[in-house]
Amino acid sequence: MIIDVHQHLGPCRVFGLNIEEADLMAALDRNGVDAAIVQPYPGAPDPGAVHDRIAALARQHPGRIFGIMSMSPHCDPEVYRAEARRCVEELGFVALKIHTIGHAVNPLTPDAQVVYRTAAELGVPVMIHTGPGVPLALPALILPASREYPGTTFILAHSGHTIYAPEAFVVAQERTNIVLDTSWSAPDDIKWFIEGLGPDRVMMGSDSLLNLAAELAKYRALDLDDATLERVLAGTARAVFRLPVSAEHEERVTGPARATAHSAART
Ligand SMILES: [Zn+2]
Repeated sequence: MIIDVHQHLGPCRVFGLNIEEADLMAALDRNGVDAAIVQPYPGAPDPGAVHDRIAALARQHPGRIFGIMSMSPHCDPEVYRAEARRCVEELGFVALKIHTIGHAVNPLTPDAQVVYRTAAELGVPVMIHTGPGVPLALPALILPASREYPGTTFILAHSGHTIYAPEAFVVAQERTNIVLDTSWSAPDDIKWFIEGLGPDRVMMGSDSLLNLAAELAKYRALDLDDATLERVLAGTARAVFRLPVSAEHEERVTGPARATAHSAART
């Protein structure tokens, strides 16, 4: 099973991009990706409308599309909390996103605290953009929140984006509630993350339809054993986002083990 933990839908005025539903689904099919976790771009003119589009796509493709809520927290905290609550409780979204550069959020400020508090209340992880956009996007700036909210999982999107990969590694070493999304990371860094932190702390993400094939090729180049590959391509994401798994996928992942248990029960 393969899960892409970082995909987008809709328009982006910050980065000048736009992804339509059909293009996203075609890219997943073309690359043999079973499920994607999808968020609005930070430059979405109406993030609520994109949240609705992601929810509609998830309804059309049950178990294949999951949502991450992403909107600027530079608003009345109650407005932010109401949309986060709607996304998680009504639309079934699985995380909240802080886009440090796209939304100009310093992870140490009161507006970022609103996101951490809301995620803790809703019991979902926080994904945070790291890499381009320093100093706001420095991986280390999530360290205080990861200490203050030990029950929340913090996902470092892009794992420092190659240049800050060592800082992402050190931060993840410090706090077990920090997990890495390796979109745009170098293959050598991904190998280092898996060996140094363990496969349960690393997840494959692409952040782009065209980049998806390249991200999968990086993992295949690492020559990982089957169990490790299953964790980093899907198992870690299933655990971090608490994704419901379809019976078909369950059988593919744990088939031999279940057969053994079954035969043991019969004898
Ligand atoms: Zn992104």
